[in-house]
Amino acid sequence: MQAQLVVSDRLAAVGTLAAGVAHEINNPLAFVLSNLSFLSVELQNVTRELPPGRTSEMEEVLREAVDGAHRVRQIVRDLRTFSRGDDEVSTAVNLQAVLESAITMARGELKMRAQIIRDFGDVPPVEGSEGRFGQVFLNLLINAAHAIPEGKPEHNEVRVVLRASGDRVIVEVSDTGVGMTPEVRARIFDPFFTTKPVGEGTGLGLSICHGIVTGFGGDISVESEVGRGSTFRVSLPVGHRARALGRPPPLHLVG
Ligand code: ADP
Ligand code: MG
Repeated sequence: MQAQLVVSDRLAAVGTLAAGVAHEINNPLAFVLSNLSFLSVELQNVTRELPPGRTSEMEEVLREAVDGAHRVRQIVRDLRTFSRGDDEVSTAVNLQAVLESAITMARGELKMRAQIIRDFGDVPPVEGSEGRFGQVFLNLLINAAHAIPEGKPEHNEVRVVLRASGDRVIVEVSDTGVGMTPEVRARIFDPFFTTKPVGEGTGLGLSICHGIVTGFGGDISVESEVGRGSTFRVSLPVGHRARALGRPPPLHLVG
């Protein structure tokens, strides 16, 4: 598909740039973080000698600086993940276990907003990386949670479907959240595209998902309707090794 190709090209170019930028930021950032932690310790030591008001202001300023630096570190991590391509060792992955652990990790974000519904069928393993696939589904679950306003968990749901379809395994993550306009939907896989307020979203989540899924031979698509919700569908090929175990190839006796 033409549009798909353009997206992949652009992501590859951004990935190369991102790797360089992440690398350059990492060293000075480590320096900033270690100095900040030195200052925190020092501040505790001088606390007794300062008037009470001064101390808490300094503590607050320091805490903001540490928070900011952590945010930068998270962005750098996202960038590095994004730029690492298919260098990962590929193994047979049980997606049901991956989904369970992603759901556990997202539970904090989900519980105020929606019920989690699992619809897991029996599926063969896929080939890829457990960690990377975990990242994909965690991203999708957190996005789903953020699309649903807090406070009415009994009226909303995030549904996770796992099923086999021919030689593919399909995972769907659906939400009953705000949905997307066609204009937003067209841009969601672009790196740095976000509709979230500054400081809340990096806009890298879905471009990372796209990179991981296509890197392992799969694809990711979305259906969405404003006011009704969204469904992200990830389709991954059944692993060769997994397939060979489940259904032995026919024997060819020659001569
Ligand atoms: P971020 O979450 O940091 O904004 P993402 O790449 O994960 O970056 O998502 C990009 C944008 O796609 C979001 O800002 C949001 O506008 C849209 N989006 C992603 N998932 C959903 C969803 N489940 N429902 C509605 N909009 C979504
Ligand atoms: Mg996101």
